Amino acid sequence: MSFSIVTTHWFRLSFPLLLLTFIYFGLDSAITFTRSNLGILTNLPYVLFACSILLSHAFKQSRIAMVSTALLIAYWLIQFRLQTKLSSGTTILELSLLAALLPVALALVYSHKNGPLLSRSYFIYLCTLGFFCFWCYLTLGHFYDGGFNDINNTFLFVVPDVSKIPFILVVYSLAMVLTFAICVSSKNRITDVVIYSSALLSTVTFVYFHIPYISSMMFSLSGILLLIYLLSASYELAFKDLLTDIPGRLALESDLRYLGRRFTIAMIDIDHFKSFNDTYGHDTGDDVLRLVASKMKHIGGGARIYRYGGEEFTVLFKGKTVEQSLDYLELLRASIESYDMILRDHDTRPKDQKAGAQKRKSKKQGDLVNITISIGVCDSQETRSVKTIMKRADEALYKAKNSGRNRVCSA
Ligand code: GH3
Ligand code: MG
Ligand code: MG
Repeated sequence: MSFSIVTTHWFRLSFPLLLLTFIYFGLDSAITFTRSNLGILTNLPYVLFACSILLSHAFKQSRIAMVSTALLIAYWLIQFRLQTKLSSGTTILELSLLAALLPVALALVYSHKNGPLLSRSYFIYLCTLGFFCFWCYLTLGHFYDGGFNDINNTFLFVVPDVSKIPFILVVYSLAMVLTFAICVSSKNRITDVVIYSSALLSTVTFVYFHIPYISSMMFSLSGILLLIYLLSASYELAFKDLLTDIPGRLALESDLRYLGRRFTIAMIDIDHFKSFNDTYGHDTGDDVLRLVASKMKHIGGGARIYRYGGEEFTVLFKGKTVEQSLDYLELLRASIESYDMILRDHDTRPKDQKAGAQKRKSKKQGDLVNITISIGVCDSQETRSVKTIMKRADEALYKAKNSGRNRVCSA
């Protein structure tokens, strides 16, 4: 449950592309369908973006609200300013301004923290959008005053076979989409996915603006995806541990309900963590939890990892016995033991100079500490009762602690 295909970065990258491919192959039907439901479909994006803003307010996802607002304004401008022939008046210039500024507006969402909608952050973002609109207004005024007739052919290079907007804008839009896609593949946060899909679909709109009803189709799709991502964000909030950014206890409980015949559960506990907290402070303790979680992310072997609670973690190997899992756990233990953690300057550090049982070296560039973990592991060979297996893994962990810590013990 907690780990599903739909939350992987490659799925999130390819899903909007897949939908675009469907639309491409069924373009004629999509246009006919839009034409026959014009009244509803031209207004659908407004409804979807408004719902998305309201839900963002309820789920405290101000970043998604910012993206929805930017798209809402862009769509409104398209409907009220750009429904004339591209060759007439300033239509192409207005479209170009929109194509240039929307990716910037989307990127600016990153400069704001996620939080409640009625915040200073959201207000500042609205002002930024207002500033963009004002700047466009001035540019258009300048265009009229200057008496430029055809800015595209005079100043900019257009490849009519590719798009009616200047070629440089096509390249720029694709570069922006690519940058957002890189954010998805490296970080895979909801904000990354929201910005990537919005930039991709709006770019398709601007580049293929000559296709009838393209804006209604693309912005409706964008609105539907925003709502899906909002639900996904609230799902992540419930299932993810915020401190370590890995699935939490709820995700573990959920996944334990869907196990096959063979599986292995490992319980992990950081050694002497209390004395570490007392020595270096709670914030540094939090850094250690993040470090352990980040090392666990690379455990391999198809393992699923969870923060069980406090300084305890759980690893679940589906389809593997203890024997098949031990190497991965041993590598994890060794990688954490050998990692030299540089202490950051938290205000609370250090509270007392007794370093407990942790090895501590003092280096010129800062204090280095090494932490260790103990692991208890049990599989489903003798019993398939998850409760019993967890209990045995816990007993094995206790054994590891009593026999000197920094080791893996099996039940
Ligand atoms: P042992 O080697 O036997 O496991 O000893 P220990 O000190 O690690 O174990 P103990 O259970 O006594 O201490 C766990 C500590 O973990 C106590 C608590 O202050 C700390 N802790 C639990 N959750 C968090 C957290 O979210 N952040 C920080 N910084 N500390 C936490
Ligand atoms: Mg403990
Ligand atoms: Mg401990």
